[in-house]
Amino acid sequence: MMDTRIVVTGGSGMVGQALKKIMPNAIYLSSKDCDLTDLNQTILMIKKYEPETIIHIAAKVGGIIENLKYPVEFLEENIYMNTNLCKAAHICNVKNFMAVLSTCIYPEKATKYPMTEEQLYDGPPPKQNFSYAYAKRCLAVQIDSYKLQYNKSNWCYVIPCNLYGEDDKFDFERAHFVSALIEKVFNSNGEIKLLGTGVSLRQFMYAGDLALAIKILVEKNIYDNFNIANDEVLSIKDIASLSLKTLNKEDIKITFSGNKEEDGNYRKDVSSKKLLEVLDNFTFTPLSKGIKKVYKIYRERNE
Ligand code: NAP
Repeated sequence: MMDTRIVVTGGSGMVGQALKKIMPNAIYLSSKDCDLTDLNQTILMIKKYEPETIIHIAAKVGGIIENLKYPVEFLEENIYMNTNLCKAAHICNVKNFMAVLSTCIYPEKATKYPMTEEQLYDGPPPKQNFSYAYAKRCLAVQIDSYKLQYNKSNWCYVIPCNLYGEDDKFDFERAHFVSALIEKVFNSNGEIKLLGTGVSLRQFMYAGDLALAIKILVEKNIYDNFNIANDEVLSIKDIASLSLKTLNKEDIKITFSGNKEEDGNYRKDVSSKKLLEVLDNFTFTPLSKGIKKVYKIYRERNE
């Protein structure tokens, strides 16, 4: 158990729930407890809990379809939430602040892969999630600006790759790829239709791994900017095949829409080298093992 008061925003979401399982004594907030787009509510929340540490997980998050449909909401809601929380945390002298960004915000095309933390601003993000990406990049800039101007040495961000987990949203429009796939396999009548062409390369991490990395960093008082990503880099097509094999569902036929617009950027794999230099024993859950685990929980909940 930790002595310090820790507030976790986004406590009702997939990552927040994963963290709650292993760090139950922190204070977990949803938008119903505090709407971070409202500065007054945000300041009152911090004054109420007087946290020494804020783990900022909350965001407006969605898949490619939602990002293409609602770019204004993805930009504005994230900008408001992040700006208000940084400002309120500064006003209330919060010592430790760790925010969660995303590898979706890295440049659409990089000169070298896997990308390292220094490459974050090396080019524009993919157009499919342009607004979300710029809002999240702004959060990085906000944190770095507070560090610079107000000497906030313990303010930082982590940049995780795509995630999946038992507490993801499993409905088609909002789900992330692996979780959407699990839902489709469960409900399949012999064929699964997937978006895009399947050629894009992706890293997918079990949400529990991200939660564990955050917990260890906070407990060890390590506040620095880190990529956090499973080092398995597979094409969407290969992830789909691996999932069917892992779940003994190889009789299901997979087809792709063939629409390149739905692919997102071709690759965005990042290196976790910097993280593993400070957490040398940290291991990521292999994709096959994580898929099996989440499928089992999903099946138990839905049968
Ligand atoms: P999620 O399941 O969609 O949860 C989002 C959380 O943010 C919920 O707790 C939600 O509260 C809260 N929230 C949304 N709007 C809010 C507002 N106006 N005020 C206060 N709270 C608000 O998201 P997630 O998948 O756990 O993602 C967590 C973090 O990881 C995000 O920062 C995301 O950008 C990042 N990330 C996610 C992925 C991924 O694949 N999911 C990949 C990389 C990075 P309510 O439940 O009340 O709406």
